[in-house]
Amino acid sequence: MVSQQRNSSDEPIHDTPHCLVVPLPATGHINPMLQFSKRLISKRIRVTLVLTRFVSKSITATTAREEEFNVRLDSISDGFDDGGMEAAESTRVYLDTFREVGSGALSRLIEKQSDAGEPVHCVVYDHCIPWCLDVAKKFGLVGAAFLTQSCAVDTIYNHVYQGLIRPPVTEQGILTLRTLPGLPPLKSEDLPSLVSKFGTYPAIFGALVGQFSNIDEADWVFCNSVYELENEAADWLSKRLPKLTTIGPTIPSMYLDKRLKADYLDKQFPNDTDYGFSIFKPMNEICMNWLGDKPKGSVVYVSFGSLADLGTEQMVELCFGLKNSGHYFLWVVRESEQSKLPYDFSSTGKKGLIVPWCQQLHVLASGVVGCFVTHCGWNSTLEAVSLGVPMVAMPQWADQATNAKYVTDVWRVGVRARSGGDGGDGLVKREEIERCVREVMEGEKAVEIRRNGDKWKKVMKDAVSEDGSSDRNVREFVDSLIRVCLW
Ligand code: UDP
Repeated sequence: MVSQQRNSSDEPIHDTPHCLVVPLPATGHINPMLQFSKRLISKRIRVTLVLTRFVSKSITATTAREEEFNVRLDSISDGFDDGGMEAAESTRVYLDTFREVGSGALSRLIEKQSDAGEPVHCVVYDHCIPWCLDVAKKFGLVGAAFLTQSCAVDTIYNHVYQGLIRPPVTEQGILTLRTLPGLPPLKSEDLPSLVSKFGTYPAIFGALVGQFSNIDEADWVFCNSVYELENEAADWLSKRLPKLTTIGPTIPSMYLDKRLKADYLDKQFPNDTDYGFSIFKPMNEICMNWLGDKPKGSVVYVSFGSLADLGTEQMVELCFGLKNSGHYFLWVVRESEQSKLPYDFSSTGKKGLIVPWCQQLHVLASGVVGCFVTHCGWNSTLEAVSLGVPMVAMPQWADQATNAKYVTDVWRVGVRARSGGDGGDGLVKREEIERCVREVMEGEKAVEIRRNGDKWKKVMKDAVSEDGSSDRNVREFVDSLIRVCLW
């Protein structure tokens, strides 16, 4: 599904700046960078979204009609064209190979675009693959880092990078963290797991801390967040990274400002209700049919995103927690996780539906979801806040614990399901899951959570609407690129 951007007279556009947008090949990185691409296109920038060859062969279109998807795609090799990230013997091997093979492949793509009369002016690259900036600079192009995590989380990683936090951070050591600038008081259970449980996933920890190694040389640093959502963290981080600007939430326009359909190209994004493609095949019709006859706010939606790998025991506790809550539930259990379900749970009766993947935004926006049991991946968090859906936070790893802290204690749009142990990272028991679901669906707190949800939903929409904080930041970037291109 490679599509060309065209103007109303159906001629290719050549007189505007051209950006390559290069995400890490994972759903939680592709979705926001794809959506950012659409924003740029709506502001007259030409964009080529660069996927890896494996991902580009694996994706399924998720728009109703192909012409709704108007982002041009191209691909480069990451060294694993047949199996992708999963085929590498470790994450470190994957990231190292991607750097080695990808640097040459990205250079050749830039040359190919130039030969085809589509010269590239800028590379917007995922913060986890900072070598893209070296490639951009080799060609004298504008380089823009794209941070896929919150300002708060990047503040923590930046402290690690500067040596101001030295993991592992013990409960005693956490005392110093209470005073981290721009952040609420934190316990170790609120820290990114790569910091609190130092030594787990060292290659990813290295990439997230290493993102700062050349970031000062980037011309722009975009963070997929909203200034008003975490203004203190954003203020602190932009003192450290003066080129930082917030451009989020990168969510299809129909859930926010609905402006992409109205832009200068008549046919552009007539119905921007979904990202446009997915690595996993969604069961949209089955989900929407099942949700269709459920009362407003009556369904618990459960998903742990594209990567989390729950223990079998945790899956069993979830089964009983959901069942015992007595509410309807729609639970996304990826194919690779389904063997962890108890054998007699696959038929969940009339109360539950389990699917391997769904179009999450359609589900969240359906009006029948009263609560989202979530791992608090940053995209899922932004999506739930943007749609005003209350959350039960069950963070698993990486940045999710810090996002959960903001969900429960800063924005107050959900509650956290806690494990029995002190670290907050063990098994969350069925009674706790049931308690949290009931609290969000039925309890007194539900009223306050929904009131806060309405407030933050408006903040998200305002940010990307005409003259909102994110809209202004994107426009400033676009104006500067146009100047570079004309010059
Ligand atoms: N998602 C989806 N269908 C699902 C589960 C997730 O479309 O069944 C999307 C979700 O809307 C979000 C992304 O996958 O955009 C997950 O990103 P997130 O940062 O929340 O978590 P990750 O997968 O990176 O852990």
